[in-house]
Amino acid sequence: MYDLLLRNVRPAFSDTMCDIAVQDGRIAKIGQLSAPANRVMEGGGRTVLPPYVESHIHLDTALTSGVPRLNESGELLEGIELWNEYRTRYLTKEDVTKRAHAVIEEMVKHGVLYMRGMVDVSDPQLTALHALIDVKRAVAPFLTLQLIAFPQNGLTADRGEALRQAIELGADGISAVPHLDPTHEKGIESLYICFELANEYDKDIHIFSDEIDDGASRFVETVALLAAEYGMGNRVTVSHLNAMAYYPEAYVRKLIGLIKASDINVVTCPLISTAVQGRLDAWPKGRGITRVKDLHEAGVNVAVAHDDFLSPFYPLGTGSLLSAGHMLLHQAHMTGARDFESVYEMMTANAARVMNIEGYGIQEGHRADFILVSAESAHDLLRRQPVTELVVSNGQIICETVPAQTTYLIGQTCT
Ligand SMILES: [Zn+2]
Repeated sequence: MYDLLLRNVRPAFSDTMCDIAVQDGRIAKIGQLSAPANRVMEGGGRTVLPPYVESHIHLDTALTSGVPRLNESGELLEGIELWNEYRTRYLTKEDVTKRAHAVIEEMVKHGVLYMRGMVDVSDPQLTALHALIDVKRAVAPFLTLQLIAFPQNGLTADRGEALRQAIELGADGISAVPHLDPTHEKGIESLYICFELANEYDKDIHIFSDEIDDGASRFVETVALLAAEYGMGNRVTVSHLNAMAYYPEAYVRKLIGLIKASDINVVTCPLISTAVQGRLDAWPKGRGITRVKDLHEAGVNVAVAHDDFLSPFYPLGTGSLLSAGHMLLHQAHMTGARDFESVYEMMTANAARVMNIEGYGIQEGHRADFILVSAESAHDLLRRQPVTELVVSNGQIICETVPAQTTYLIGQTCT
């Protein structure tokens, strides 16, 4: 007897209706099934998708917007100043834990079951990391959380010591923020330190690369080169890459070839990037996004992430990856017929590749992680951004949401 039988659903927008049987936390069978189950649910022709994958989020800064005050300018540098103030005055383990659980709950509701959290390790006590390692353990039965330690205030001053401590505490990977180092040389040095440490401890790398509207910021070429030299390939990811929007075309073409050959991943975060980038440009202003379409068409693995969530950097965010995908369609000029499918892949399979998730997708034998939505196609999903009606993790139903219903009263007498 199966544990759960979900009847009459369409896996990943296919035309064929089928049933999905779950047993012992795995997808036991997909097809026209009649075997009994402890629980039978009627899918009513709705679509089953693998869960959304959030490949770049800050759980330590989330839900701190307005404390100690709102970001007056809305600019990234003021956001960093505010975060440093929050970190030194208010950050406690209990505070981080409470906010992280609240964000995770919100994102799970929206169908996210895999998440990569970027954790600032500028604090000498590594308070946020200590808290998030406990959170990771607590949510492990239903959500896979990877933690990437990053030095918001640079890593050359301590020669990567904070990152080393973070790895020894249990971080899954490390980062660098080379464009915030005082000189280009220091930025390059921080990349070398980061790669050396990751290689020593066999950890993933996720670099904040060229998150600045400065066409002279070109750290991604060194990331690609080092990824190839160390043989790390797709265990290396770069986020943002906004400066690429300002590079000359001849350099972009050379660079895309280098990125593709190195097999590194690119994560774009269109919500925050659109809000904070391009602010210093004279008109016309940059769109605040990297060359997503060109990278994707060249065969580079590109994922889209939600990133900040009610933080000093970004006073918005719902936790729905569909909102990030929807923004990306606009910002990257991806409204062509096949672009919707591509952006859907960026929220799911491509992001799963960033996190190196094994057994991702709706297939027999895979972990029974899936969601149920009312959407006919990737286009329909991204256009309407419907609620996630059912979330199944490890074979357990962990969340149900009933879509809002509207009753039209036009032409009826109101009493
Ligand atoms: Zn970020």
